[in-house]
Amino acid sequence: MTIHQNLIDGEWTGAEAIENINPSNTDEVVGLYARANADDARNAIAAAKAAAPAWARSGILERHAILRKASDEILARKEELGRLLSSEEGKTLGEGIGETVRAAQIFDFFAGETLRLAGQVLPSVRPNIGVEITREPVGVVGIITPWNFPIAIPAWKIAPALCYGNTVVFKPAELVPGCSWAIVDILHRAGLPKGVLNLVMGKGSVVGQAMLDSPDVNAITFTGSVATGKRVAAASVEHNRKYQLEMGGKNPFVVLDDADLAVAVDAALNSAFFSTGQRCTASSRLIVTQGIHDRFVAALSEKMAAVKVGNALDSTTQIGPVVDDSQLKQDLDYIEIGRKEGANLAFGGERLNRETPGFYLQPALFTEANNQMRISREEIFGPVASVIQVKDYDEALAVANDTAFGLSSGIATTSLKHATHFKRNAEAGMVMVNLPTAGVDFHVPFGGRKGSSYGSREQGSYAAEFYTTVKTAYTLA
Ligand code: NAD
Repeated sequence: MTIHQNLIDGEWTGAEAIENINPSNTDEVVGLYARANADDARNAIAAAKAAAPAWARSGILERHAILRKASDEILARKEELGRLLSSEEGKTLGEGIGETVRAAQIFDFFAGETLRLAGQVLPSVRPNIGVEITREPVGVVGIITPWNFPIAIPAWKIAPALCYGNTVVFKPAELVPGCSWAIVDILHRAGLPKGVLNLVMGKGSVVGQAMLDSPDVNAITFTGSVATGKRVAAASVEHNRKYQLEMGGKNPFVVLDDADLAVAVDAALNSAFFSTGQRCTASSRLIVTQGIHDRFVAALSEKMAAVKVGNALDSTTQIGPVVDDSQLKQDLDYIEIGRKEGANLAFGGERLNRETPGFYLQPALFTEANNQMRISREEIFGPVASVIQVKDYDEALAVANDTAFGLSSGIATTSLKHATHFKRNAEAGMVMVNLPTAGVDFHVPFGGRKGSSYGSREQGSYAAEFYTTVKTAYTLA
């Protein structure tokens, strides 16, 4: 097997490799990917620093053309890249292809943004003096990504970084280097000058840490766990650099007595279990008022029983495997914790065997849970959800907001009054009415509050806030 190498200063390099394993079939090696060390990371940072002045001055048409080309190629190869994504991460083929299309749309969006860069010209309060407000690149941007969206998250960080004239050192998650390698290869061939985009695959504690420790990384955008996010924050404060964190969630989905039951059940099923529950926007707390509780639990359990869990590449599969053995262990441990805490395991939670050896888990639903249990407070990051019964809307809202996190939140209701009140009062960055808690479009801001996020929003035109720095310039007329 050929080794997919790191890209440093325009050269493919790296002889030591790790195997990328398919979670639907652990006998299958998806590919070999180079493992960078701390020196590789430092070389990549030096290359990005050297390339930064010229790229900052590059023409907007050059940037537009490269981002457009990347978008076109990703879209043309969506089946192949979607299959690669599903092979390395385990989400279903439909989800893998959908995420690949989204990555193409993100590159297309930011290709357009290069042509919409604008500033402001205003008069000073002093006579005969003009003021210009412009945005400039930040410099070298470090990008550190998690395993659960192997192509969309790299795309939504790399595309704006390049669009606004920054150079990049990119470290993807160890478990899913395939899609990251593919988009770096595509951008490299699309004509990026050497050093503008560098790829260093490898361990977070080695490669990621070298990025955190470098005074030459001017900004770091991070998506991943709270524990790593805190390290990114501490190191960034130390180096006085800009940083942005997208971390965990414990997202609530409220179901009120007046909800359309079918809408509520479909949204809950999707929120809690699709993509194997491995979404930061997944809902693991289903907060249900007492009048609809029993009907909701019965209907959701019935739907869960009909869902097909299997090999991600089988077109009939609806829920793929868990990403690896340690995540599976974490999911099973939390199922045990929930039982011991006194919640009732109403459905699922068993490890499943399929034709190929993989990390298959039947989605699990707890009932009789309360919001103080660990299964209601800690992020599990698997297909495990709990139903918390409440008296009325006021209690539902209070329970929904009683969490350390604040990424996404949802409500199923036919009441305009409650929908409007929930939109205004949910303590979350994103609110969904009669829709799953996941599924934010690529052209609108993505992010949360409280323990879920820090810094400015990602995606859409809001991304400019992080990837640029504002300059105010005066001229005497
Ligand atoms: P993780 O924190 O273990 O790893 C994330 C990235 O950080 C990886 O690339 C890893 O190699 C790197 N890393 C690890 N240690 C590091 C260090 N010392 N220095 C620098 N980098 C280091 O998270 P994960 O397990 O890959 O992802 C799952 C988590 O991501 C979940 O908590 C999930 O909620 C979160 N997530 C959040 C969002 C969001 O937008 N809020 C989106 C997706 C995933």
